[in-house]
Order: sequence, then structure tokens, then C-alpha cells
Amino acid sequence: MIDRDAIRKALEVVIDPELHRSIVELDMVRSIEPSANGVVDVTVSLTPPGCPIKGHFQTAVAEAVEALEGVTHVNVYFDVLSDSQKAALQQKLGRASLPAGALAQVANVLCIGSGKGGVGKSTLTANLAAALMGEGKRVGVLDADVWGYSIPRMYGLGSTRPDVSAERKIIPLTAHGVRVMSIGFFVEEDAAVVWRGPMLHKALTQFLQDVEWGALDYLLVDLPPGTGDVSMTLAQLLPQAQFLIVTTPQPTAQKVARRAAHMADKVALEIGGVIENMSSFTTPSGERFTIFGEGGGKELADELDVPLLGRVPLTMPLREQSDGGVPLVIEDPDDPAAQAIHQIARGLIAMTPAALPVLPLVEVAPADDAPPASPKPVGMSLPMA
Ligand code: ADP
Repeated sequence: MIDRDAIRKALEVVIDPELHRSIVELDMVRSIEPSANGVVDVTVSLTPPGCPIKGHFQTAVAEAVEALEGVTHVNVYFDVLSDSQKAALQQKLGRASLPAGALAQVANVLCIGSGKGGVGKSTLTANLAAALMGEGKRVGVLDADVWGYSIPRMYGLGSTRPDVSAERKIIPLTAHGVRVMSIGFFVEEDAAVVWRGPMLHKALTQFLQDVEWGALDYLLVDLPPGTGDVSMTLAQLLPQAQFLIVTTPQPTAQKVARRAAHMADKVALEIGGVIENMSSFTTPSGERFTIFGEGGGKELADELDVPLLGRVPLTMPLREQSDGGVPLVIEDPDDPAAQAIHQIARGLIAMTPAALPVLPLVEVAPADDAPPASPKPVGMSLPMA
């Protein structure tokens, strides 16, 4: 019988093209079962279930093992990494995570992203948070849309600056019962935020670890559109977060939303579902117009094999309330858009666990070649403060 260790050694040449490391090193080889007749069964664990590079692994694993003497045939099977295995993978990749204790009282983190701007991601974040609160949940919103922050406006939070507690933690502002933190609280109104890379990483890390979020059932994170630095950073800092994708119904929007989904896949973030916004418009006389087309949200959800969490119609009050500083779900819960958002909130409650703690905090030792750890931030040392 062919030796398992020899097979494992042969598999070292199979490289994950996205993570640039061998599947053996990444601990993605789940099992190796050689049999006397030369047939070998290999099971490889992938991060997302619908991993687009499955085919690559199939071929590479078969070729690597077939090259061994005595092997007559190779069966390649796949399974999916569990949450704890994903966390271990993140750790192996040397990704920084939050220090123990940060967000320890936050049960669920939901990152709300989109492929492009203007699809209503911030509007839905603000209203979903208020709807979850209306369901009796404790909710926080982190506005991580650093270049296009709009949460302060949507919650009617003007120029107030957050206070710092005796423990030197930043205290989020509270609006309509929701705890809110935004980069907009620290910059002059309409000032352009131009940070990139490490500075952004630092600011966002502070928003997660130096903000007194307290006990929350849900922390909603409004991501910037696209697949850039912020999304990557947050995905790395919050490996247990779920990613919700907002899209409009037309096929082109769906295409860009798919890119955001692939980013989430790549950094092993779980995609919780798709929300279709601007689904249709119904006139006061009851005539329905599908202004941005139809069906895109469902198609994307099917393709990603995740639930379509809901379809939110276009309504004038939703736009007006966003600008007016009070979430529509509070101001007019009977509006069709508000009703759709409430339903999504109830769906989210059904699909997320209620018990604490959900975020297992893994302390990650810095890689050997990592730069020395920066001193612990003190008080409000955000770069814009
Ligand atoms: P994003 O965060 O994706 O850039 P916003 O939430 O800022 O998008 O929404 C863009 C604009 O569209 C805002 O003026 C908002 O009020 C409006 N809007 C979003 N969703 C709806 C909707 N379902 N009905 C009416 N207006 C909407």
C-alpha cells in the first residue's frame, strides 16, 4: 500500500492560487485514503462551498498523486472548512485579529457591502439597524464607508464629537437607540478623506477595539462600495462576521455585486445573503414599474447559493427620511420599503444565533518578519482626531 506520508509530501506541490501557499501547509488536506489496488482517495477542504477554483485543485491534486509509483487512480473529494478551521487558517496566514476582549460582548457582526455606490447600502444599514432595535435587539452601526460616510446624516447626527470614557475608550453617539460610530464624527463636514492602506487599517482597528460598543446583539458595519482596502481589513479583523450584499435588480449591478462576493469568499468571510434594493416602484394608483429591471437579486443569491433576504421597493419616503435624519422604519413603519426592511430584520434574527459569545477571539502572534507592534493606542488617537 502506498504510504500516506509520501502522498502528503507529493501534495506539497499543490498551491492555492489565491493564498499562494501549499494546501498541505494550509492544512487543507482533510484526508488521504490509499487502498491496496493503488486507488487513492484525497479530500480537500475549501473555504467557500462554491469555490471558483475547485477545478484547479481537482486537476493539481490528481496529477500530483498519480505521479507516485503504484498509484492507479486518484479520486478527489471536497468538503468545506468549519468556522474554527477558517479561524485557524486566518491565523496561519498571519492575519492580525483584534486583541482578546475587543468586541467580546458583540454577538453578531454583519458587514453590509455592495459592488458599487448608490445602490442604497447605507440607507439599508441605517434602517436595518433601527428595525433590529425595534425587534428589541441592542444594535450598533459602524460606518466604515470612510470615503462616502452618510450614516451621521441618516441618523440626524450633526457635528457632535464622541466623548472619551475614564477607561479612555471612545463612546459611540446614540441616535434612535442605536449606537453609532463614524469617521464623519472626526472630520470637518464634507471634508475628503484620503487615507489608504496602513492608516485606514489603523483607524478601523481603533473603531473596533477602542470604541466602547458595550453589549450588542448586532453590530452592523457599513462597508465602502467595491472590494478595496477597507473590506479586506475588516474581513481580516472580523473573521466571524457575515457579509450581506446589496444589489439593484439589473444584470450589470449584479455583475459588480458578484465581485464583492468573490472578495468575501477569498478572505473566507461567510456570505449571509443578498438584499435587492430599488426593486420596483408602485404609483399611488397601484401601477407597478420595475425601473431597474427585475430578478437580479434572486439570480445573484442563487448563484452564490445564499438566501435572498428580501426585496426593498423604491419609495419616496425612504429617500426623504434618509435625508431627514430619522430612519423610515421608525418614522413610517407602514411604508412598503419600511415593511420590507422589517421583514429582512426578522429574517436576520432568525438566521443569527442569539447566544454569547459568538466571536471566538483568537490572539495572533505576529509573523517573524512582521514590523514591531505599534504601541497601544491611547484615548482618541485616531489619525483625524
Ligand atoms: P450607497 O450607500 O449604496 O452609496 P445610499 O444608501 O447613499 O447608497 O443611497 C443612495 C440614494 O438612494 C440616497 O439618496 C437614498 O436615499 C436613495 N435610496 C436608497 N434606497 C432607496 C429606495 N429603496 N427608495 C428610494 N430611495 C432610495
